Amino acid sequence: MHHAQRRRFLKASLCVASGALLGTRATARSQEAGKTKTAGSRKPITRKLGKTGLDLPVVNMGVMRADNPALVRAALAEGMVMFDTAHSYQRGRNEEMLGRVLADYPRESFVIATKVGLGRGSSAECIRDFLSDVDISLQRLKMHSVDILYAHGVDSREFGLNPTLVECLKQAKQTGRARFVGFSTHENEPDVLDAAVEGGVCDVVLTAVNFKQDHYPSVKAAIKRAAAAGIGIIGMKTMAGAFYDKARSKPVNCKAALKFVLQDENVSTTIPGITSFEHLAENASVNTDITMSEEERDALVARNLEGGLYCQQCHHCVDGCRKGVQIPTYMRAFMYTYGYRDLGLAHAALSEIEAEENPCTSCDSCTAHCVKGFPLRERIADVQRVRMIPEDLLLNSGAGEA
Ligand code: SF4
Ligand code: SF4
Repeated sequence: MHHAQRRRFLKASLCVASGALLGTRATARSQEAGKTKTAGSRKPITRKLGKTGLDLPVVNMGVMRADNPALVRAALAEGMVMFDTAHSYQRGRNEEMLGRVLADYPRESFVIATKVGLGRGSSAECIRDFLSDVDISLQRLKMHSVDILYAHGVDSREFGLNPTLVECLKQAKQTGRARFVGFSTHENEPDVLDAAVEGGVCDVVLTAVNFKQDHYPSVKAAIKRAAAAGIGIIGMKTMAGAFYDKARSKPVNCKAALKFVLQDENVSTTIPGITSFEHLAENASVNTDITMSEEERDALVARNLEGGLYCQQCHHCVDGCRKGVQIPTYMRAFMYTYGYRDLGLAHAALSEIEAEENPCTSCDSCTAHCVKGFPLRERIADVQRVRMIPEDLLLNSGAGEA
């Protein structure tokens, strides 16, 4: 397809996928009228988080790679209320940092969300370990309970309906460790959202959603079904990798990317990762104005021509690989390395892969194909180097944007 034709095609596709950005922005604006502010005033736009009763600003703080307490205080001062972390982030230091900062604020003045993964073993062992990890998180956070507890990284319908997983969440809630529970997901999101509805245990789902997802229409439809069932929807990975290139010379327009997600009124709030004051100010400005300009829309359309760093975890590449390599995991690690500059996160992702050597070295040619056009073999060889870094050198990595 000729470049100009391809550009027109992508522009049309992006409009359709987003529910026609120009049309919905007016709709979203009018829907917000009365209960929210418009650009120029200082009150944040808020939305209800499903049936939880929480009323949250549309942009909050993903703390994942932030290690500066002043940034959390600044986010509170900017009107952000919810702080999203996880048991595993920065090997627990992320929760500890949040705990130290938030101890200075009234408990009712913020909403804290964390995530705990399901381990391996018998059902009884998994439940015991899960609750034990929640207790460790609570100690780090210096709290008796969190507002939202997610089962971390639910990646399929089967996993979402796993009785052991469901029991973990039920017990966490029944014992008062969490006010609300749910899933976090960045893979097979529509299936996981439907499982959240079907399983009946979830109050909230934290889902990957962004303008780079080829399957955005099906994510949006599943979000609608979940929201109709009273589940609160929180969007993550809204920045789609933060940069389009490894050299980080082409940043994602983060305001446009956030606004794209927020045109869908079923998304209650978002948690972009924030690691700098500049980035905080940019994200916080969306809290008072979600109107998408022509320029912002065009910025997303133009850049959508490029493959970028964001791997949508669609697994289409895997069938073509003659060795069945976990390519999506390598590509996720690649995004963490170059988009987020978080080698610790990349290392943790790579540790999910059993084989330690580069699987591509014995291939004459690559038979796998990425729908985004990623040079798979080249990126696998590149990111494979992160595995060689000793763990003690990774403790303080993580200073990018997302
Ligand atoms: S070069 Fe790597 S990704 Fe490509 S087919 Fe071989 S093992 Fe799979
Ligand atoms: S590498 Fe490409 S094809 Fe494979 S999961 Fe990621 S986006 Fe999909």
